[in-house]
Amino acid sequence: MSNATAVDAADAKMDEFNPFQAMAKRFEVASDHLGLEPGVRDVLRTPDRELTVAIPVEMDDGSIRVFKGYRVQHNFLRGPCKGGIRFAPNVHLDEVRALAAWMTWKCSVVDVPFGGGKGGVICNPIELSTGELERITRRYTASILDILGPDRDVPAPDMNTNEQTMAWIMDTYSMHQRRTSTAVVTGKPLNLGGSRGRREATGRGVMISCREALKTMGLQPNETGVVVQGSGNVGGIGALLLHREGHRILSISDMYGAIYNEKGLDMPAVLAWLKDKGRLEGYPEADHLTSAEQLALECDVLIPAATENQIHSENVDQVKAKLIIEGANGPTTALADKVLEDRGVMVVPDILANAGGVTVSYFEWVQDRMGYFWTEEIVNSRLEQIMVGAFSEVYAKSKEHGVSMRTGAYIQAIERVVTVYRMRGIFA
Ligand code: NAD
Repeated sequence: MSNATAVDAADAKMDEFNPFQAMAKRFEVASDHLGLEPGVRDVLRTPDRELTVAIPVEMDDGSIRVFKGYRVQHNFLRGPCKGGIRFAPNVHLDEVRALAAWMTWKCSVVDVPFGGGKGGVICNPIELSTGELERITRRYTASILDILGPDRDVPAPDMNTNEQTMAWIMDTYSMHQRRTSTAVVTGKPLNLGGSRGRREATGRGVMISCREALKTMGLQPNETGVVVQGSGNVGGIGALLLHREGHRILSISDMYGAIYNEKGLDMPAVLAWLKDKGRLEGYPEADHLTSAEQLALECDVLIPAATENQIHSENVDQVKAKLIIEGANGPTTALADKVLEDRGVMVVPDILANAGGVTVSYFEWVQDRMGYFWTEEIVNSRLEQIMVGAFSEVYAKSKEHGVSMRTGAYIQAIERVVTVYRMRGIFA
């Protein structure tokens, strides 16, 4: 029996792989520390609005298919809802609910004036043409139009969506409004009201979180070997920036497997290979590993930057890293968390570690509304200031309450939302 399966009965009853339950579990622990009353917990836990839409689309071969889409607005006490849209075959409502709630806490941790939302469409982008993706995106946008808007809900990219997807959403929304409204989405192309530095922002935030965490452990970048799961926007760019800082990137993966070189990978060459071939497989000057073998590698830092539930009760005992930086949302289950905490592994939680993306999304929204655009240096230095400040606040909270960085981050986030809730009260 692994350590994780020996935890208390309440944990054992939980569905370990349900992201919304995982979020609720962390929320409860932090709420206990804050002594929150049950009614307030209910208000903050419950998503404010959940929309499910049917998306009929004419396919390239003339047939018609109906896709299913969701948009969940978890909480808008601190401002418009903010959160990405994910296209994937396994999207489900509890996942979107969890991701929306994590956005509420994430925006609060970095103190940007947004609430939390998230969207998803059940589809397999690999099997769809660009035209089909465009028609899905536009019809999905039209179906959720009534709850979108720069002051209501501002989507962004997530897994399998990108700048082009955001341009289609912006255009669809604008055509219905009869005016160009760039601030309705972030993560847009630069010449459509995007922000400099947005594409790299989440990876940059991961790099900053890693640096700040290593400082608390007295470790230098050139002393650390890093393993990165996922090589997309977060993992690929995060690994490149860490490589530039002097870390040895021992291994990086995609959904088909991992590459490994104990001397350190040449990250610009790896990313050029990936861009050219579409997958890491076949990359020379590296051994090839399965995803499971990769997570068990000897390393100092592990950065899960792919998807949820990657470190769980069955594999947590094999994880050897001293530090985990959660680039992805929800990559560690609550059961695995407990084991890592007991072993003294530092975990910089998703709602802090990957908050660089939403921070620069906030900058993008501000720039769109001002109609005045900042230099990349200004964007990066403001991001740096916010990430370093948020890391130090969460670190201080975790020390003050004698808890993990994750619980510290939730305490910090919930406190800010509760303060606003008590000021605003219940509208009746
Ligand atoms: P992406 O689509 O750009 O990249 C995802 C990467 O993960 C790809 O390399 C893919 O091959 C890989 N992958 C998918 N499933 C995998 C698996 N089971 N095992 C190993 N690799 C796998 O997505 P992204 O934008 O980089 O997002 C990654 C994670 O980061 C998600 O959890 C997302 O919610 C989170 N996130 C993204 C942003 C952002 O700005 N893009 C911001 C905050 C959080």
